[in-house]
Amino acid sequence: IVDDAKFLFLENDFSSSVAQADWSAKKMVWIPSEREGFEAASVTKETGDEVLVELSNGQKLEVNKEDVQKMNPPKFNKVEDMAALTFLNEASVLHNLKERYYSSLIYTYSGLFCVVVNPYKMLPIYSEKVVEMYKGKKRHEVPPHIYSITDNAYRNMMQDREDQSILCTGESGAGKTENTKKVIQYLAVVASSHKVKKDSSPGELEKQLLQANPILEAFGNAKTSKNDNSSRFGKFIKLNFDVTGYIVGANIDTYLLEKSRCIRQAAVERAFHIFYYMVAGAKDSLRGSELLLEDFSCYRFLMSGHVEIPGQEDDQMFEETLEAMEIMGFTQEERTGMLKVVSTVLQLGNVKFEKERNSEQASMPDDTAAQKLCHLQGINVTDFSRAVLTPRIKVGREVVQKAQTKQQADFAIEALAKAMYERLFRWILARVNKTLDKSKRQSSSFLGILDIAGFEIFEDNSFEQLCINYTNERLQQLFNHTMFTLEQEEYQREGIEWTFIDFGLDLQPCIELIERPNNPPGILALLDEECLFPKATDVSFVEKLLSTHTTHVKFSKPKHQDKLIFTVLHYAGKVDYNSDSWLTKNMDPLNDNVTGLLSNSSSPFIQDLWRELGRVVGLETINKSKKGMFRTVGQLHKESLGRLMTTLNNTQPNFIRCIIPNHEKRVPALHSESAVHGVLEGIRICRQGFPNRILFQEFRQRYELLAAKAIPKGFMDGKQACALMVTHLDLDPNLFRIGQSKMFFRTGVLAQLEEERDLK
Ligand code: ATP
Ligand code: MG
Repeated sequence: IVDDAKFLFLENDFSSSVAQADWSAKKMVWIPSEREGFEAASVTKETGDEVLVELSNGQKLEVNKEDVQKMNPPKFNKVEDMAALTFLNEASVLHNLKERYYSSLIYTYSGLFCVVVNPYKMLPIYSEKVVEMYKGKKRHEVPPHIYSITDNAYRNMMQDREDQSILCTGESGAGKTENTKKVIQYLAVVASSHKVKKDSSPGELEKQLLQANPILEAFGNAKTSKNDNSSRFGKFIKLNFDVTGYIVGANIDTYLLEKSRCIRQAAVERAFHIFYYMVAGAKDSLRGSELLLEDFSCYRFLMSGHVEIPGQEDDQMFEETLEAMEIMGFTQEERTGMLKVVSTVLQLGNVKFEKERNSEQASMPDDTAAQKLCHLQGINVTDFSRAVLTPRIKVGREVVQKAQTKQQADFAIEALAKAMYERLFRWILARVNKTLDKSKRQSSSFLGILDIAGFEIFEDNSFEQLCINYTNERLQQLFNHTMFTLEQEEYQREGIEWTFIDFGLDLQPCIELIERPNNPPGILALLDEECLFPKATDVSFVEKLLSTHTTHVKFSKPKHQDKLIFTVLHYAGKVDYNSDSWLTKNMDPLNDNVTGLLSNSSSPFIQDLWRELGRVVGLETINKSKKGMFRTVGQLHKESLGRLMTTLNNTQPNFIRCIIPNHEKRVPALHSESAVHGVLEGIRICRQGFPNRILFQEFRQRYELLAAKAIPKGFMDGKQACALMVTHLDLDPNLFRIGQSKMFFRTGVLAQLEEERDLK
């Protein structure tokens, strides 16, 4: 640990006493800067709204008072918990994160949550030794770390018998998945029942738990422009523990798999990893007679051929994925069955339709691809062609055979490819859960880890972004509400009078705009309504939105814009949504002639995959709602999110804010906008209350010299002494509260006392 200590512990800063004097003398502040976000300056003169400052290079500037942010005393440099900062402002938060980050200290607390900045390199802070160091330690006894959050959550779960959750949020590439893995790695060591048997190797369950990730990542992750290993689905991993604290099983739920990635990818991006692993890695008879694989360039769905990932060999990853499946207990038949589906999805991309010469009808002149995929799926190629080209369709009460246009047939094939892959993903998840559910032993409580995509604002925002941003609204609401509750509890415990504002309520209007079922119906409900109208279009949907919500504070319609665009004011920013194809995306129609064939496949694996027809969501297949109505994608997402929120609301949540240092994947520049986004929300809440707390005896010791005359000689109770001190200091009663064991201060007050103390 000695060598690696510098990656965790703050080194002693011997220059601090000099710096302290300098800071007091120069009246240091932060002013906005183009390059750095903020720059240090010293105040030379203040006149009305203007402040004259001097930069370190001697340059003099006049800035608006409102643009100036106070600098914290140097003793707060690289502070481990930013709630201790006497000036809680954007500049100070950014500065602190930056200073720590440049010293390779990636974890920092900010009151009730933990911030982690992606180091983009392996740091020696996840070794077994480090795990041992964090075992059973309280938060303040060890440097900030995901292990500390995990250990404390684990201990709380054991002590209070309260279920726990660890919620990782942040934008793509920020490190949510990596940190999620560290939580599991830590618990697999600390809470392994195997240790009782005096055997240091991890037990079978722990091994399987660690192997679940590579499998899910192979099928659910992909290279994007932002992250070479981007999760294209959200997940909630629940670890179950028995009364003695040993892991007895686990369960994984997933959300919103980006299935469209199977058929289309942006330039330089990839489809899901497994496609590349398989095509690069499958050999001999598996490659040839079993999977009927071809070269990368032969597959239309792999739009850019074999896009490689630097530092990663796809063929080797194929071996590793197969190995993980083996450890997970997947049989040979299951493994081949899975790969056959992956190969089929690729083959579907090669099915080509043409318009017949004398009609609009589609035909399939070359059925090579269809033959291959039907062979892989164990279905008859003639039946398949008929099901795609001339499906039987219900028209009123009759069933007729209806010829499809080329466009319709192409659409049906793409929808089939996506649905097939989604079913496979769901099957894998169910299979993994079956292995991880060792319910032979009773579980008493759980610790859940959420790894879900953060708020997204792109150039073009579609239905997928609405779903993910809606999810983030709900998570942010939980965060705000938790902060509120915990603060309120602390104030109550200390007997302080203070009604805290529930900032969770701030998010309610936007959430309602999206999810409200009626009076008036929100965006999702209106979209569903439109899906029922035969004549509705994406444009008529936006018109309906407009007529229903014109006056809604969180809704607006950009003027002189495309008819398809509408705007939602999310907590994290304004997002213009483009409703092109939303009706189709919400209904997600599938040709049931083909799915019917698949459910009668000669392969038991394929039969199993399509056993329940209807839509897939999470682990359930939902066919028809109680009212017999078709279930839409939006409604299903709303419900699965609702279930997740109910679960989370019954846990004690722990928040991890993952931050991306910059968008060039380069170290160590830390840019302002991306960094503090998300952190500030927590701080905003903190600032409403009395974020700086100090124990009576500590307050007395440190500031007695400012109010020496106030306290009579001899013994005096701490609380009484402090009360006398603040009276003597003539502090505005609104700036502090006196609790049962400590003093509470508004942000900035202690800094001022500190300054006065230095002048003494
Ligand atoms: P997405 O939303 O796209 O899934 P994410 O937040 O899950 O993104 P990760 O996949 O966890 O992001 O991280 C992206 C990459 O950053 C990792 O592949 C890894 O290279 C690096 N990284 C993240 N966290 C760490 C860490 N703590 N130590 C070392 N490298 C890290
Ligand atoms: Mg991820």
